Amino acid sequence: MKVALLSESPADEAVLRELVAAVLGGSPAWSAAGLRARGWPSVVQVLPAVIRHLHFNTDTDTLVVTADADDSVVHTAAHEAPGYFHPQCRLCQLRAVFRRTTRKLPPARGRNRVLRGVGVAVPALEAWLLCGRDATVGESAWIEGQSAGRAPYTRAELKWRVYGTDRPSLPYEIRRAVEEIRRHGRDTRRLEHDFPGFGVLARDLREDQAMLHGHPP
Ligand SMILES: [Zn+2]
Repeated sequence: MKVALLSESPADEAVLRELVAAVLGGSPAWSAAGLRARGWPSVVQVLPAVIRHLHFNTDTDTLVVTADADDSVVHTAAHEAPGYFHPQCRLCQLRAVFRRTTRKLPPARGRNRVLRGVGVAVPALEAWLLCGRDATVGESAWIEGQSAGRAPYTRAELKWRVYGTDRPSLPYEIRRAVEEIRRHGRDTRRLEHDFPGFGVLARDLREDQAMLHGHPP
């Protein structure tokens, strides 16, 4: 399986490489390295061009794209209803771009379309890094805080908890991020459970893998 990554930062990309390999049970072939967007809304804006480029110019099977949720609406089970789309949910938005963009493309390079792996970190990647280490951090805590109008933690606080500073150097940020995410390298179930925004990405990847091996789910 050939996988391309589109994320918001080099640290995000390093973490995604670990997670994709963990879910697929072995490191895939990486294609089209270095696709990066600087934060939201840049990710969603460049996505159609990235999908078209990968479709016509590469043999990428799956494009994995992630974004931070920040203060946007969190994707929930209710959003999974057929035909449902929440315009303020970044996961719903990214999936919609995939749908709209791939629908119009003719087959190329022996396949009909580039498959999808979409995830959103709530509220930011550092929350995933604290999974299993800091019991106060999780999507449900964040959603409860949102509805109570009082966030349980800020993004800066999450950075402090992971890096000991809210402005880590890039090499240190990458080293710490990889160190933490490798705790889930053998088993991603805890992360999928505490962070459904990662759980849906893991499910996409497993479906893509099954599809490519001729066993559509
Ligand atoms: Zn959604």
